[in-house]
Amino acid sequence: MTNTDTVGSTGRALHETHLPVAEIFGPTFQGEGPHTGRVCSFVRLGLCNLACVFCDTPYTWDRARFDVGAECPEQNVTAVCDQVAGHNTPLTVITGGEPLIHQGRVAFIELLNRLAQHGGIHVETNGTIPPTEHTRERVEHFTVSPKLSNNGADPCNKRVKPCVLRAFVELAMAGRANFKFVVSDHGDLAEVDHLVAEHQLPRSAVWIMPEGRTGDEILAKQATLADAVLKCGLNMTTRMHVLIWGDRRGV
Ligand code: SF4
Repeated sequence: MTNTDTVGSTGRALHETHLPVAEIFGPTFQGEGPHTGRVCSFVRLGLCNLACVFCDTPYTWDRARFDVGAECPEQNVTAVCDQVAGHNTPLTVITGGEPLIHQGRVAFIELLNRLAQHGGIHVETNGTIPPTEHTRERVEHFTVSPKLSNNGADPCNKRVKPCVLRAFVELAMAGRANFKFVVSDHGDLAEVDHLVAEHQLPRSAVWIMPEGRTGDEILAKQATLADAVLKCGLNMTTRMHVLIWGDRRGV
């Protein structure tokens, strides 16, 4: 029997009422991308279908290093939404892990339905899973972060899914998605430039984010990359929450 088959105290299967949740926090600021600085709450869901070596939330998926079940306990979505409502923020960002892994669960559908009653919903995704009709209806904005070869673990055909990117390009053209790439050096930036051209990502919707876990690292990489990013006609984002609070969880 799996977790999702287990029957909860209400008599309903847990996959209908619960999701694996690593963190719920807010009010805070969105720290990355075009919505940087907006007041929001975050709901971080467990599990991911990739295994990036630079991942800053490995506790959501890496069973070799973490007790993922303990890090991301199944939580009732009603309680999750009540907690978010207590933050009184106009926006909730659902992140992970890879949140769209859970799209097929009744509990995820319920999460979107309930959060939509409090305000806007943004989803942060790695761009390998297409949003369902219901997800597209409920989510205002998608931040799509396809992984480059600096992911260091997954083959290209697992990281980059052309048909999924096409779906997000469509949303980007409607102003409802942007693409964000984690870049360490000029080689990574050249790979982004190639990927942007190959998959016809609208450059005005593409953001380069320097990899780094400290303010000093991020600022140094931004300075190194800035001119080249401008030459590519792409946007650049910092990681504002790291500049303010460092590499702390839950802020
Ligand atoms: S896609 Fe995101 S959550 Fe998943 S391993 Fe990569 S960085 Fe971590």
